[in-house]
Amino acid sequence: MKAYRLRQEINGITEPPGKTWFFELEAAVVDADRCIQCGTCVAACPSNSLGVNADSGLPELIKMCTGCSLCWDFCPRGGLRYEALWPPSTAIPGVSGEDAADTGSGASEVERHDAADTYWKITGGPPGDGLGAVLSAYAVRAGARPDGAQDGGAVSAILLAALASGEIDGALVTRPSADPDEPWKGVAHLATTPAEIIESAGSFYNQTMALAALDLSRYNLPAKPRIAVVGTPCEIQGIRAMQARRWSTGAHRVDAVVLTIAVLCTKSFDYRGLMLELLERDRGIDLARVSKVDVIRGRMIVEYRDGSMAVDEPIKDFHGAALKGCDECADFIGRSADISVGSVGSMDGWSSVLVRTERGRRALDGARSRLDMKDLDSVEALLKLDAFDKRVAYKSLRRQYDPDAPLFMEYAEHVANYDDTDRAPVIPQR
Ligand SMILES: Cc1cc2nc3c(=O)[nH]c(=O)nc-3n(C[C@H](O)[C@H](O)[C@H](O)COP(=O)(O)OP(=O)(O)OC[C@H]3O[C@@H](n4cnc5c(N)ncnc54)[C@H](O)[C@@H]3O)c2cc1C
Ligand code: SF4
Ligand code: SF4
Repeated sequence: MKAYRLRQEINGITEPPGKTWFFELEAAVVDADRCIQCGTCVAACPSNSLGVNADSGLPELIKMCTGCSLCWDFCPRGGLRYEALWPPSTAIPGVSGEDAADTGSGASEVERHDAADTYWKITGGPPGDGLGAVLSAYAVRAGARPDGAQDGGAVSAILLAALASGEIDGALVTRPSADPDEPWKGVAHLATTPAEIIESAGSFYNQTMALAALDLSRYNLPAKPRIAVVGTPCEIQGIRAMQARRWSTGAHRVDAVVLTIAVLCTKSFDYRGLMLELLERDRGIDLARVSKVDVIRGRMIVEYRDGSMAVDEPIKDFHGAALKGCDECADFIGRSADISVGSVGSMDGWSSVLVRTERGRRALDGARSRLDMKDLDSVEALLKLDAFDKRVAYKSLRRQYDPDAPLFMEYAEHVANYDDTDRAPVIPQR
């Protein structure tokens, strides 16, 4: 190991084998351009030795690394086998049907536990099929939809209801950067008021090192805070993995997270590459006038405040700015979250909401008076995009790893069977 060798050369002290240092994570993930900027390594470090580089937005060592290995263990592009966190899928014939209890309505209900339960421990279980564990699924639109809401405003409505009822003290969200040189850049922020939640509505197509913001000491919160986290699926993977292993975590309060909402995600982007180069510089887009950026139906859509369309182009024209590490990601649908929310599967102006745990169900129930709810329009659209996402991950992994390695073979076998339409899940709708 590089850092181990270095240390031996410098001071002659031999150390037990098996330690992994931040230098090694840096070499294998950050320097290799595979980092997806989730911030898990920063949150996992028990000695608070990692921070976020102000220029690159990437993790960096800010004081001495102890070689505890945890940054490597929990990094979704390092040692974390995030698919091992996924609970079995719901009611897929021949896969998990025995878990399902008949509700008498033709739909199936599966009891799922909450984030704090050992159910979520890392099991090394097989990768999931279908949409993962789903208690119920809806198309949802908020009655009072915030102006900037991306789709139906479901995420904001759920957070507002949880805050109003005292179920949470705040929510880790993404809001616009206050720096005028960073138009349309999302930054992580702990919202503790309804106004801050409303201000954070809408999607930002950059990663924020969100979990690095879990140092809650900067906020005026109760001694035992309860917070929700809205994150891309990789960020929720990091939280689940850290919650599954209890140890002293340093400044970052993973234990305070009582609700996780994943936004569905096939890809995120480098802020500078997408916004400042491909959009502003190359296409002359006036970012100050932009009201919405969306990646939908395979296209990049950018709208101006006056309702005119600034960009409507195939997403492949923007691949140069996509995060390379996203290609390896096979969790479009946020299987580890309490609730997953996206646009695919519902009509425009509605959000597709998959409720995965009892905790998620309670959060959605608490928001019902604020929501219009109906059946999802197309489960197939969700399955199709999930299958596509997995094929991209498979190709990316194949390029990088030895195809004869056991992990690769297990994954390859899974993907080879993936788009078998007979495996479509039965999802309880209401
Ligand atoms: C990078 C990215 C890629 C996505 N790709 C897809 C996709 O391929 N298919 C699909 O169906 N849906 C995708 N989504 C989800 C979709 O854009 C909406 O976020 C989702 O439908 C929720 O809409 P809403 O109106 O219910 O939420 P709103 O009420 O508008 O709230 C949105 C919430 O998302 C949070 N948020 C915004 N940007 C980020 C970010 N970068 N990281 C973490 N949280 C963020 C906000 O803080 C806010 O709390 C993607 C979202 C992102 C951020
Ligand atoms: S992918 Fe996440 S955990 Fe891994 S190095 Fe990047 S920020 Fe850290
Ligand atoms: S595609 Fe996967 S790795 Fe990339 S931001 Fe989305 S969830 Fe994270």
